[in-house]
Amino acid sequence: MIATADIKVTRVESSKPRELNLSQVPFGKYMSDHMLEADFEGGEWRNVEIKPYQPLLLAPSNAALHYGQAIFEGIKAYRLHTGEPVIFRPYNNYHRFNISANRMQMPSVPEEIFMEGMKQLVALDAKWVPADEDHALYIRPFMFATDEVLGVRPSDNFKFMIILSPSGPYFTAPMRIWVEEQYTRAAHGGVGYAKAAGNYGAAMYPTAQAKKKGYDQVLWTDATHHKFVQEIGVMNVFFVIGDTAVTPGLEEGTILAGVTRDSVITLLGEMGYTVEERPLSMDEVVSAYKSGQLTEVFGSGTAATISLIKELHFKDEVMTWDPARCDAANGVKRKLDAVRYGYAADNHGWLVRV
Ligand SMILES: *Cc1c(COP(=O)(O)O)cnc(C)c1O
Repeated sequence: MIATADIKVTRVESSKPRELNLSQVPFGKYMSDHMLEADFEGGEWRNVEIKPYQPLLLAPSNAALHYGQAIFEGIKAYRLHTGEPVIFRPYNNYHRFNISANRMQMPSVPEEIFMEGMKQLVALDAKWVPADEDHALYIRPFMFATDEVLGVRPSDNFKFMIILSPSGPYFTAPMRIWVEEQYTRAAHGGVGYAKAAGNYGAAMYPTAQAKKKGYDQVLWTDATHHKFVQEIGVMNVFFVIGDTAVTPGLEEGTILAGVTRDSVITLLGEMGYTVEERPLSMDEVVSAYKSGQLTEVFGSGTAATISLIKELHFKDEVMTWDPARCDAANGVKRKLDAVRYGYAADNHGWLVRV
C-alpha cells in the first residue's frame, strides 16, 4: 500500500501564478505549478510522484494514441469565503473513475494514490484556487495506456496523472440547443456511462454541425429511435414540468452519472420539487411545452455547474424559455454555490478539506 508520505515531491523553483490574474483566466487554459504522476507496471502501481508541471515523452507507438484506452475525471476545488480551499465531492469521482477503468479494461487506481495524491497536490498548489464567484480550480485526473505496440489488445502498462487548471466560468450565456436525430452519443451496451476519451472525440463532428446551424450544443437522443432524451453536450439534463423535475435514469448505461446531477436531484428535492429519474420522450417534451407545463430546461455538470437553456429546436418546433424566469435552475445554482463557497451549511458532507 502506498501511504501519502511515500509520494515523492519535487517542487518548482519559482511559482507562476504571480504572472496570472486568476479572475481573468478562461476555462482549462492554464495549468498550476505541479502535477501528479504514477505508473502501473508489472501489475502494480509505482513511481508515485508530485513534480513540476511538464510535458511527457511518449513513443509514437503509444497504445492510447492509437486505440483510445484512456479515461478522465473532472472535479473542482473552491475557496470558501473564509479563505479555505475545499474539494467538491471527490470520492464520487474517484468511484466513477474506477467504473470507467473497469469498462475500458484498465486497472483500478487505489484510493491512496487518487484521493491522497489529489489532496496533497491541491494543498501544495492551494494558492492557485481562485477566490472569485464562479471560479474554481479544475482538477483533471486521467489515465491512459502506455504499452508501445501496435497490436490491438489491452495495454499492460498505464500512466495515471492529475493536473490542475485555475478556471473561470465554462458556458456563460444561456444556450440554444439542437435536438440530435441523426448522430448518437451513447448506445445500450456501449460506453456512455464511462468518462472514456473516445466518447468526446466522437461527439465533436455532430456538435460542429449543430454549431454551423447556429446552435451551441446538441441534445442527444437514444440510439435506436432518436426519441428519448439523454444528455446535453457533456452535461446531464433536467426538464421542469409543473412541480416535477425529470431527468433520464441511469439504468440503460447511456447516461454519465454526473456528480452535479446527483447534487441537483438532492437540492431540487429540498426545494420542494418532485424529481423523477425516468425515460422522457421528445413527444412528451413537445406536448408539455405546448400545454405550458414545461417551464425550463437546464444542463448540469462540474465544468459549467448549471447551464440555462433558452431554446430547443426539434423538427419544426422551436421551444423557448426566458432565462430570468427559470426558477428551479437559478435556485439550484444559488444553493449549490452557497454550499461550495461556504455561505450555507454543508449538510450532506459534500466538501472535502485538503
Ligand atoms: C462529466 C460529464 C457529465 C457531468 O458530470 P459531473 O460529474 O456532474 O461533472 C455529464 N455528461 C457527460 C457525458 C460527462 O462526460
